[in-house]
Amino acid sequence: MKSINFFPRSGGIELDLRKELNRTLHGAPDEVAKGALAILRRMRRADGVVYPVKSTDLLPCDCRTNGYENEPDKDYPCDVCEGEGYLFDDEIVALYKTNRYEYQDVEKYKAWGKHTVSMSFFYVEYHESISRFDKLLEANHNLQGEIISPVQLLHRHNVHMAESFRADTGRVEFWRLSCWTD
Ligand SMILES: [Zn+2]
Repeated sequence: MKSINFFPRSGGIELDLRKELNRTLHGAPDEVAKGALAILRRMRRADGVVYPVKSTDLLPCDCRTNGYENEPDKDYPCDVCEGEGYLFDDEIVALYKTNRYEYQDVEKYKAWGKHTVSMSFFYVEYHESISRFDKLLEANHNLQGEIISPVQLLHRHNVHMAESFRADTGRVEFWRLSCWTD
């Protein structure tokens, strides 16, 4: 009986997934573009923080630290942070959005099915590290697929989990963001 070698050519022939995803999102002579542009809102990190794990790892906006509640004003957001409460940078990224799915909170003492959260997965091109404090903003596009200026926001997605997918060599190939929507 012939033995099966599941990994006959392991090592050295791994696909360049950055390149493949770039072709998928932006298109190629033999491939239709399937991506869209969105705005990645990355919260600025405090000095020396490589990856934020708690909100104190971020740089707070003055509107947050000046108020006695230590909360930004959501109803009349300040011009600097737009109510986020933290300083941030907006960057345009190419991504692929998959179908939304419903996540049901079935915690022990809650009535079953009481709390349903709409979630979406986004596949984002290689990028510097993304964390659960960051946001994805979906905006209106023109017919060429460019984001209209001034920006008209469609959805604000909060990152629930940000996973980086790495190649064998350890290089980050793309990100998958699991998001819930305001
Ligand atoms: Zn502010």
